[in-house]
Amino acid sequence: MADVFSKSVRSEIMGRIRGVNTRPEMMVRSFLHIRGFRFRLHAKALPGKPDIVLPRYKTAIFVHGCFWHGHSDCKRSALPSSHRGFWSRKISGNKKRDSDQIRALRSLGWCVLVIWECETKKADLLSARLKVLRRNKR
Ligand SMILES: [Zn+2]
Repeated sequence: MADVFSKSVRSEIMGRIRGVNTRPEMMVRSFLHIRGFRFRLHAKALPGKPDIVLPRYKTAIFVHGCFWHGHSDCKRSALPSSHRGFWSRKISGNKKRDSDQIRALRSLGWCVLVIWECETKKADLLSARLKVLRRNKR
């Protein structure tokens, strides 16, 4: 079947689809590691397979790409100029799925943190976002 997208658009789409072990995720992991936090990765048994799970803190962390997960009011989440309808549907679908997964985790008693890609660029911002962990220690 012919691809409905041109080669360049298709490669854009594929490039936007990030797998595990992305750079922002590695930033958060090393941040936690340096501070002595113990964590597990990609907890498959939990809703949404959180990227990082800290069982002692009953905290699950998602490291979200700003574009792919639709970070509101963020430069990085701007839609491409072509196929806006496609992207807009795609991103709202992702956001809906994210919020369903977060709700499911919270109903299981987990504290859920979403760290955005753009927040991993600044150590002080990341540190502020992760402060909640101290409070969650069991
Ligand atoms: Zn962002």
